[in-house]
Amino acid sequence: MRTIGHWIDGRETSGRSDRQQSVFNPATGQVQANVALASVEDVHDAVASASRAFATWSDSSLSERTKILFAFRELMNRRADELAVAITDEHGKVTSDARGEVQRGLEVVEFACGIPQLLKGEYSDQVSSGVDLFSYRQPLGVVVGITPFNFPAMVPMWMYPIAIACGNAFILKPSERDPSASLLMAELWRDAGLPDGVFNVVQGDVTAVNALLDHPDVAAVSFVGSTPIARTIHERATANGKRVQALGGAKNHSIILPDADVDFAAKHLVAAAFGSAGERCMAISAAVPVGAIAEPLLERVAELANAIKVGSGRDATNEMGPVVTSAARDRIVELITGGERQGARVAVDGRIITVPGFEEGFFVGPTLLDHVTTEMDVYREEIFGPVLSFVRAQSVDEAIATINANPYGNGTAIFTSSGESARRFHREVKVGMIGINVPIPVPMAYFSFGGWKDSLFGDHHVHGPEGVSFYTRAKVVTSRWPERSATSDASFSFPTSK
Ligand code: NAD
Repeated sequence: MRTIGHWIDGRETSGRSDRQQSVFNPATGQVQANVALASVEDVHDAVASASRAFATWSDSSLSERTKILFAFRELMNRRADELAVAITDEHGKVTSDARGEVQRGLEVVEFACGIPQLLKGEYSDQVSSGVDLFSYRQPLGVVVGITPFNFPAMVPMWMYPIAIACGNAFILKPSERDPSASLLMAELWRDAGLPDGVFNVVQGDVTAVNALLDHPDVAAVSFVGSTPIARTIHERATANGKRVQALGGAKNHSIILPDADVDFAAKHLVAAAFGSAGERCMAISAAVPVGAIAEPLLERVAELANAIKVGSGRDATNEMGPVVTSAARDRIVELITGGERQGARVAVDGRIITVPGFEEGFFVGPTLLDHVTTEMDVYREEIFGPVLSFVRAQSVDEAIATINANPYGNGTAIFTSSGESARRFHREVKVGMIGINVPIPVPMAYFSFGGWKDSLFGDHHVHGPEGVSFYTRAKVVTSRWPERSATSDASFSFPTSK
């Protein structure tokens, strides 16, 4: 059986520990590889390599960095299909969806290719007589990315293109459930000419994570994953004096106003709820129809949900693959059953589904629940599966209040034909990313991505301008080159401009 190793100091290694974990193919339910789980010593090796590399990489010219970033982009473009298939085999999502995540990641690389422009400082001439003032930003050092299973290519690419472009050395700790994409990305960096040690991969679990969070030579940590872990990571890493951005889970609502186009809203809701089997942090999991639109909307959504083709992600005719593990499948099924017990009506039931030829796969079918209330567990939990709950509201005020009372604040959307309602919605709702007739409002790479409330701990969103700011710190230089003939104006008073 294949063992998926780490990438340390420019090469793959199985590391110093013999701890391993199975990697499944969720469509077949079979173990297809083992992944090495790093020991504390492995983490120390990676940090030592990254620290050495940082000393020279941080001093490399912007032209050299840009050249390597462009080369990386070309290589990834060439191998994007291969990367997408590797993602499908470990994550389960359909290959066209995996290709989409590679594309969205590539857009961050393209943004990072503009690093000479992004790192431009500021200069003020003659702020006082003979005195100039300028500022610029420098990289932090060794920075770490800890990432979730649901976007094994895109989420790391929210981080490392910008971190590396800014002159940092990067250590990726990917999800142990779908680790192969990270090694492919490491090979591409090597082939693009990135010096050894600037990009490292440490596979592993909590042991690796804690060793990274506690290492004195790690300057900053970017985390994306579930809220309880995000909170813990933020607390532990900030207590250790590191800069941290920790993105957590989500419960994304979509409001559908009575003036919305029912068919348009239904089609977008179904794609946003069931695409990638609902395993997206921006998936819509709660639909909040306002007033009388609820009935026709429910009917159309049910019709569309029943028509979704579920099966192996490798088959291009399928629209939805399995969920990631058997444990995830069991948890999702239990939540649906719990919802039914607490009074929800199961309008479309995905609990029992058989995919011919893939009987052992981790499949849950699209599920639609009606009359869900905010007290039910199925509403309170982040399901992270193909379940859409209808939480009916009688007014826009009630709908907005429901969203604002929810502890998560990642994404939300409104379906309406009223500009006035849309404007009111985006101004009043306490959520980081908002769609107006756009159900999954993931910002482009040149904007920043991040939620509010329990969906993000720390001050910085990821990628875009905030990514550059996260991976650098500012210096401000006040400079004077006195002419030899000038008289000294040294004074014991606090300096003011003349
Ligand atoms: P997870 O929190 O279980 O794991 C994320 C990472 O943390 C993995 O690398 C994992 O190995 C590590 N980890 C797990 N348990 C740990 C522990 N006890 N201590 C230290 N590290 C630990 O998340 P997941 O199941 O891989 O991913 C799904 C979650 O990620 C969902 O909650 C989803 O909403 C969230 N997510 C959020 C965003 C966002 O932008 N806010 C994006 C993608 C995914």
